[in-house]
Amino acid sequence: MKVVKEISEVREFTKQDREKTVGFVPTMGYLHQGHLALLEQAREENDIVVLSIFVNPTQFGPDEDYEDYPRDLERDLELARSAGVDLVFTPKADKMYSDNAATKVEVTGLTGKLCGASRDGHFSGVCTVVSKLFNIVNPTRAYFGQKDYQQVLVIKRMVEDLNFDLDIVTVPIVREEDGLAISSRNKYLNQAERKAALVLFESLQRGKELIVGGERKAKVIEQELISNIEAEPLAEIDYVAVVDASSLKDIDKIRGEVLLALAVYIGETRLIDNLIVEV
Ligand code: AMP
Repeated sequence: MKVVKEISEVREFTKQDREKTVGFVPTMGYLHQGHLALLEQAREENDIVVLSIFVNPTQFGPDEDYEDYPRDLERDLELARSAGVDLVFTPKADKMYSDNAATKVEVTGLTGKLCGASRDGHFSGVCTVVSKLFNIVNPTRAYFGQKDYQQVLVIKRMVEDLNFDLDIVTVPIVREEDGLAISSRNKYLNQAERKAALVLFESLQRGKELIVGGERKAKVIEQELISNIEAEPLAEIDYVAVVDASSLKDIDKIRGEVLLALAVYIGETRLIDNLIVEV
């Protein structure tokens, strides 16, 4: 496994054999089972697997956790090695963004809701860095987790709109045994918060149960999610959404593919989770 910091070294590596397919997994590191599921699928479907580890400053708001975001490169490299990664790209922020940089990639519409509504500039930061990474790595396929459902939709839109020549592959959410979606930010939770964090998945499941039981009013489902979360004293809602799964638009009636999505503060830690229900 090769570990490189320079953009030119990535280009050299992936250009060695142009016939080979390249599977790319972009991450912010502090790897866990969710990331490993992406890497495993990339390993199965491609000749070469490239992993990037980059805590991207431009996707964090001024009051967010960029400085504190968990980092452990040594451990990440061990996990990457055992996942069969061929190349790890760990750029420095000043090499990714020159002082003169003046270009941003902005996807409109889809980014105005859910996480985009509460994290100003977040998706512009994501789309800009992902575009840069696609241009650097030149992958055949790139792998993203359904955990960040809106992110995958936005990136698929961007790839289509800007004619990036690659496939976006979505990998299902990996959960802890008790249902909590695995996230690097789970590290922030103390014991009581870790227990309280179960309210995210439990509420989503409760919403799904209601739909399966025949409830078709989106507002009723939304209210059920809200009441469930509000019953947990350590939880504070950022947003709760019951929306069309492909447009993220509000709906009155549950029909077709519906996304139940939420962002909830557990103490200081903002966690997200989602569930797709099809009727
Ligand atoms: P991050 O390092 O948090 O930016 O995540 C890198 C990639 O891993 C993104 O595509 C995430 O959606 C994906 N990911 C993170 N957590 C999970 C999870 N629990 N299950 C599946 N994919 C995940």
